[in-house]
Amino acid sequence: MISFGIDIGGTFIKFLAINEKGIVLKNHKIQTPCYLSSSEFLKCLAETINTWQKELKVKKAIIGIGIAGDTDNKKGILRFAPNIPWHNFKIALGLKNLTGCKCFVSNDANMAAFGVYKKELKGKYKNILVLTLGTGIGGGIIINGKLYQGATGTAGEFGHIKVGDTKTGNICACGLRGCLESYVGTNNLKKLTLQAVKNNPKSKLAKILEKEKFSVKLLSIAAQEKDKKALLIWDYFGTYLGHALSNLILIFNPEAIVFSGGISGGSKYFMPALRKVFEKQKIKEPFKNIKLLISKTKDIGALGSALYALSMKNEK
Ligand SMILES: [Zn+2]
Repeated sequence: MISFGIDIGGTFIKFLAINEKGIVLKNHKIQTPCYLSSSEFLKCLAETINTWQKELKVKKAIIGIGIAGDTDNKKGILRFAPNIPWHNFKIALGLKNLTGCKCFVSNDANMAAFGVYKKELKGKYKNILVLTLGTGIGGGIIINGKLYQGATGTAGEFGHIKVGDTKTGNICACGLRGCLESYVGTNNLKKLTLQAVKNNPKSKLAKILEKEKFSVKLLSIAAQEKDKKALLIWDYFGTYLGHALSNLILIFNPEAIVFSGGISGGSKYFMPALRKVFEKQKIKEPFKNIKLLISKTKDIGALGSALYALSMKNEK
C-alpha cells in the first residue's frame, strides 16, 4: 500500500508518496495553477499521481489531501477558501475517478497537525494545538490523541478568531475585520515593515530592504541586528498571537502548542512578547508548563495528509 499526500496552498502544491512505514519515496512541488478550471485542475493533480503509480508499480494506493480552506472532511469537498478559486469543489470524488484511489480530504492545517502529532511528537503529547503561520493562519487540534475536526470539519480555524475590534480593526482576507490573520499574517507584517521603512529611511531595516523584496526572514535578520522597529514588529506579533493563544489555552488546556510555517522561523524574536502575555494570565496553571515547539519537518502538510489517509484507509 502506498499513500500519496497532497498539500494544496494558494501558492504551491506539494506532493509526496510514502509507504506503510511512513518512509517518503517521492516528492514534488508545483505552483498552484489558480487559472485552471476545477476539472482541469483535477487532471493536473491526477497526472502526478498516475505517473507515480506507474513508476512505483503500485498495486493499491490511497490519497490524502490537505487544502487551505474550509473543507467537508466527510464528503471530501472544499467548501470555501480565501486564496483558492474553486468553491464547493468535490475534490475527493473527482480525483478518485481519475486515479482509482480512495481520497480523504481535510483542511491543510489539520493535516499539518496530524503530521506533527504522528511524525514529530510520536504521540508524546495527547492534547496539542498546531498553528501554521504564514500568509494565512491555520490551526489543527489533537484531543486525546485524535484529530478533532468538529461537526462540519471547520474546527481549528484559528486565523479567523477575533483579536481586534470587529468594526474598526484590520480587514482580513475573509472579508471581516479583527481576525487574528489580519494582525499576524505575512501581509500585515509586510505592511508594518514598509511603513516603518518609510518613516525611518536610514534604519538598518530600510538598508536591508533596499536590496531585497520583503520577506519574514529579512525581518528576522533586522531583529538580529537589533533594529528597533523590527524588534517592535516582532513584539506586536508576539503580543497579538499571545492573546489569541491565551484564549485557546483556556478553552483546550493543551500540553503543547506547535508552530509551523514560514513565520515560525522568527520564534526567537516573537516568543518573549508571547510569554509575557502568558505570565499576565490570572488562571496560572494551564500556562505554567505548556511546551511551545517549532515544527522542523519539511512538507509536514503533505506528509500529514499521506499519514492521515493511511490512518483512514479502513473507514467508509
Ligand atoms: Zn478572517
